Amino acid sequence: MKEYVLIVGGAGYIGSHVTKSLAKAGVPTLVFDNLSYGHREFVRWSDDLLLADLLDREALRLVFLRYRIRAVMHFAGFINVGESVTDPEKYYRNNIIGTLNLLEAMREAGTWVIVFSSTCATYGEPLEVPIPETHPQNPINSYGVSKLVVEKALADYGSAYGLAWCALRYFNAAGADPDAEIGEWHIPETHLIPLILDAALGRRPDIAVFGTDYPTKDGTCIRDYIHVNDLAQAHVLALSYLDAGGVPRAFNLGNGCGHSVLEVIEAAKKVSGREIAVKYGGRRAGDPPALVGTADLARSVLGWKPKHSDIMDILATAWNWHRKQFSG
Ligand code: UDP
Repeated sequence: MKEYVLIVGGAGYIGSHVTKSLAKAGVPTLVFDNLSYGHREFVRWSDDLLLADLLDREALRLVFLRYRIRAVMHFAGFINVGESVTDPEKYYRNNIIGTLNLLEAMREAGTWVIVFSSTCATYGEPLEVPIPETHPQNPINSYGVSKLVVEKALADYGSAYGLAWCALRYFNAAGADPDAEIGEWHIPETHLIPLILDAALGRRPDIAVFGTDYPTKDGTCIRDYIHVNDLAQAHVLALSYLDAGGVPRAFNLGNGCGHSVLEVIEAAKKVSGREIAVKYGGRRAGDPPALVGTADLARSVLGWKPKHSDIMDILATAWNWHRKQFSG
């Protein structure tokens, strides 16, 4: 019987890029997705799309009965920081209960390997920058809390049941597949880079800057933007690491280099060659002023080498896909 890696949330932005990278590495996959945010057309590199919801325990159980699944990668989380502050229940239910259901189905089927999408939002307001994995985790929004609870569950399931896990704490995923087959596309769109590129294409009148009074060099939030294909590569490496008996642990995935919102807008103007109108607004709830990480551990332990560290390069891949997808 063929063995698969189950990609939960494989129709989404990061999950689809990882599925493509796994296919290139010769790893057979199945995508499990409810298509609430994902795109059917992003599922191209898998043997099947299993259309179901993580809150449906019976559907999950059947997937594990029907297929031999040797490992799981879990991307199916709600990710909007602002929304998690105004509608926390959505985040607790999907991100925590949904993941517990997944872990239950894995346990019942005897699938003991998982790579989990975690986040730098689990750290909260940084006490030191760049942030190492040992930094205290005090999230300031329900999104970060929901991911932290799952990290704790993974560690406990590891100790109690022998679950092999990696939690990959992404900084800000950005950019698109250099072949421009898939890219960053959320409905509704709330993320900075696709919104900026929408403004560049004239699909929106302007880009709103959320907060100009942060204690940063230009008053706007600083984030560490990491190319989605570099994230994808880290997943392939994390799976090999766990397959080789690596100790379960969390890894930061970032470039170690921060860019303010205004810097990203300036860079996008250069890359696109378009004018981008800017509207200045108030802060968005739940946003720490600066999030920049060190990924030394992923480099030394996983052998991870990000290839697209330059923000111009990241934006160029994003622009290339965005223009192809949306300029009609
Ligand atoms: N941001 C902004 N305007 C927008 C969307 C985002 O100024 O229309 C800011 C946001 O406050 C944060 C940064 O851009 O400081 C990145 O936000 P995004 O939602 O892309 O990712 P997050 O950091 O929430 O994961």
